[in-house]
Amino acid sequence: MQTGKIAVTTENIFPIIKKFLYSDHEIFLRELISNAVDATLKLKTLASVGDFKEELGDLTIKVKVDKKAGTLTISDSGVGMTADEIERYINQIAFSGAEEFLAKYKTQANGIIGHFGLGFYSSFMVSDRVEIVTHSWQEGAKAVRWSCDGTPEYKIEDTEREARGTDIILHISDDSNEFLEEHKIEELLSKYCRFLPIPIVFGTEKEWKDGKEVETGKDRIINDTNPLWTRKPNDLKEEDYLKFYRDLYPGQEEPLFNIHLNVDFPFNLTGILYFPRIKTNFDIQKNKIQLYCNQVYVTDSVEGIVPEFLTLLHGVIDSPDIPLNVSRSYLQSDSNVKKISSHITKKVADRLQEIFKNDRDQFEKKWDDLKLFITYGMISDEKFYERAEKFALLKNVDGKYFTFEEYQTLVKDNQTDKNKTLVYLYASDKEAQHSYIEEAKSKGYDVLLMDGQLDPHFINSLEGKLKETRFARVDSDVIDKLIVKDDRKEVTLSVEEQADLRAIFEGALPPADHYWVSFEELSENANPVVITQSEFMRRMKDMAAMSPTSNFYGSMPDSRNLVVNVSHPLVKTIIDGKNKELSNKLNELDESIKPIKTRVDELEKAQKGKEDEEIPQIDRDALAEAEKQLDSLEEERTLILKGFGKDFKLVKQLIDLALLANNMLKGEDLSRFVKRSLELIKVD
Ligand code: ADP
Repeated sequence: MQTGKIAVTTENIFPIIKKFLYSDHEIFLRELISNAVDATLKLKTLASVGDFKEELGDLTIKVKVDKKAGTLTISDSGVGMTADEIERYINQIAFSGAEEFLAKYKTQANGIIGHFGLGFYSSFMVSDRVEIVTHSWQEGAKAVRWSCDGTPEYKIEDTEREARGTDIILHISDDSNEFLEEHKIEELLSKYCRFLPIPIVFGTEKEWKDGKEVETGKDRIINDTNPLWTRKPNDLKEEDYLKFYRDLYPGQEEPLFNIHLNVDFPFNLTGILYFPRIKTNFDIQKNKIQLYCNQVYVTDSVEGIVPEFLTLLHGVIDSPDIPLNVSRSYLQSDSNVKKISSHITKKVADRLQEIFKNDRDQFEKKWDDLKLFITYGMISDEKFYERAEKFALLKNVDGKYFTFEEYQTLVKDNQTDKNKTLVYLYASDKEAQHSYIEEAKSKGYDVLLMDGQLDPHFINSLEGKLKETRFARVDSDVIDKLIVKDDRKEVTLSVEEQADLRAIFEGALPPADHYWVSFEELSENANPVVITQSEFMRRMKDMAAMSPTSNFYGSMPDSRNLVVNVSHPLVKTIIDGKNKELSNKLNELDESIKPIKTRVDELEKAQKGKEDEEIPQIDRDALAEAEKQLDSLEEERTLILKGFGKDFKLVKQLIDLALLANNMLKGEDLSRFVKRSLELIKVD
């Protein structure tokens, strides 16, 4: 027997392992089984090149729990190690600058393990003592037992092990005895080892017999050594991909499409990605992509490894070229990872393009489920935008789909305004904006349906990309101003007449709401009153609502425009009514206002440009007095108009109809509207 000291530059490597690798204790099993797989694969390689000439025999890796003895054993039939090799590979842990490194990666278990070939030593996170019993494949090699209790001191001695291979025996420590539970080991095996390339046995198959689960005595293999992504796409059918998806994500809705990645230059990458159906934010499940390194599970949080929008996809990526055992920030700046990431983006775009080209019908059918993903990609990834431009679709309110190019051709002639800007009209809610949509259609315009969650962002980014194109929601202005053409009519009412009519409508508006009353000369067939909300204002408010911190626009009141169509006969009726009923009163008031106004004007003129001290007090008082008089007379005038508007059922009715067209008439106001409507319907 021989004893010795494990050669590490940091004396107390074990306490460090125990302490700093704390958060990720369970990975020890992955490390040990990976070693067993590597040893087995090495042997297979030796056999294939003719260096190893004996029978390979059964190569399964066996995992056993012995609760009584308190051990967990991993056995393989791989290359094994000679005493010499143990000395080299296990005892001399080659550290350079270990302390510095440990200090840097204290919190990142994966950063230490692997990077310094510490895989095997991770077993000390959960064990009081670890034994290696191993018998090398090499001719004349003797079996040896290595044992170490977590101090740098180890023991090595000859032992009995007839067969070639290695047993790693962990004497599980008290505070880790969960790793003696079968279900725990099962869980870890299915997480980390599910697709390893060498069969792994844990326990025996169970069977249902006479209503009871009984052991069959047959070894239970827990992994699929030949997972789908390692196979040739040509040998696989659609059904195979679906089955694999169901195995990976039980209970999930079927995916829309899949992509089989298979690259070997300039880097190695295989995998299968699935497009899930995503209808709303709630459906979004990130972290569904599993990352493997030569079939060893590494992680399912792939942010930073693939572009953000691709994390919406599901599936598996396997690459030996991704440096998996380093920190995330390192990963994100790694040039290999960047290349891989842009390659995946390209593949995804190519696949979508292919489906679009080969089966547009199918693509359109799936568009609604794909849209969120594609728009997300187009907004967030320039390269993806450039590719997706060719297959991304715009859908109009009638459910027709167009590519960007097709749509431009469709609307170019009719929807270009007098400044040569192409205006894309859209609705965000087909039902609520129905009357505006109809109005636009009656002009021969096409209306897009932009009702997706990302559409406000998407619209912004499209406006940045499409040349001389602007988006306008159908209710953001009256139809003649949505797309301003040369033939727009000017309003014929004088400024004073407009002020009067404004007061009348304000009299009938709900006092708490913010409406700016304006006038347009629309067609006689257009609605008499239309409510609009400026595109700019609404977008600012929408954006503010989406941002977590309150800002200027978010705190602005919800202001809208009440546009009165002065060409409409019913509006003319209101003007006539005002003239008939109020003329005398208003004329009388105007007569009293006139001289006072003249006086105010004169006084103001006389005092203009002078400092307060230069003006005699008496003149200053006179101006103040005259202004007060003028204000009160004008207020009286406005009140008369407002009172008229308030009592004139037709005014209220027209406003309510406009509110109703916006789905904004509710509660008591709605009840009153119904009642008033009944009163207004005259039966001959
Ligand atoms: P790594 O696997 O990253 O090289 P480890 O500490 O896990 O680091 O293992 C160190 C070395 O010990 C391995 O490279 C291998 O040569 C040897 N080794 C570990 N486990 C086994 C095994 N089960 N069979 C044969 N050799 C092994």
